[in-house]
Amino acid sequence: MTAELTGRLRLTVLGCSSAVPHPAWPAAGFLVDWGSTAILLDVGQGVVRRLEAILDPRDLAAIVIGHMHADHFLDLAGLRYVYPWGERAVVRLPVHLPPGGARRMDALAEAISERPAFFDAAYDMVEYDPDVPLSIGPLTVTFRRGRHYIPAWAMAVEAPDGARLVYTGDTGPSDSIVDFARDADLLMVEAGLRSSADDDPERGHLTAEEAIELATAANARSTLLVHYAPGRRAELEALCEAAAVPVEPAVAGLIRTVQPADAALRTA
Ligand SMILES: [Zn+2]
Ligand SMILES: [Zn+2]
Repeated sequence: MTAELTGRLRLTVLGCSSAVPHPAWPAAGFLVDWGSTAILLDVGQGVVRRLEAILDPRDLAAIVIGHMHADHFLDLAGLRYVYPWGERAVVRLPVHLPPGGARRMDALAEAISERPAFFDAAYDMVEYDPDVPLSIGPLTVTFRRGRHYIPAWAMAVEAPDGARLVYTGDTGPSDSIVDFARDADLLMVEAGLRSSADDDPERGHLTAEEAIELATAANARSTLLVHYAPGRRAELEALCEAAAVPVEPAVAGLIRTVQPADAALRTA
């Protein structure tokens, strides 16, 4: 199959809430597409219903999971039932899991009283090597270890025109993630904490202030705060308005096209 080289990188925020269920906002789920290639970054609870309103999940080119916490992968359980229950699907959905993810999926099948290999009949599950770029059609996904309570990876999606979208996943303050997010055309950074005093001594999340600091240090061209409780939106908006860099809280349903810096200069 020839990769499509013309197009525009586009983000659709399916959900950007925290792990606490909310009636309107799913947990983490970010649809990224270029032409007919659509990939889903994370699939937390509530994400699949929102996805189904936009496209048939079987038309996804792949799902990529940054880490194996429920609010980032649990809807893989619900999505499985879109596929035939008994036999192996004719076309399985590629699911890229972090190292150790396959064992967790086996445990999940057992936890929901399904057979061993229940997920394998629907998903072509492969654990990615975070040191090796992943090619999905015309898109390239790269990884960087974040600072979290379990192994967790930030992801960057690069398009053929050079546009680069970076999603931190769950992370505490991290110079390595600042480096990974450097000059991102669009950065999605988690802002899960109300206060750093709420975090473990070994950090695993960011406050909104820290998220904005990370975006500033990374010189991101545009930033969305994600992974926050929807009730905090007004508070985050006020913080973002006072920031010296272009940043705003993401909302479920938000759509953004992502252009590379040189294209923005050309059209300015
Ligand atoms: Zn997590
Ligand atoms: Zn999370």
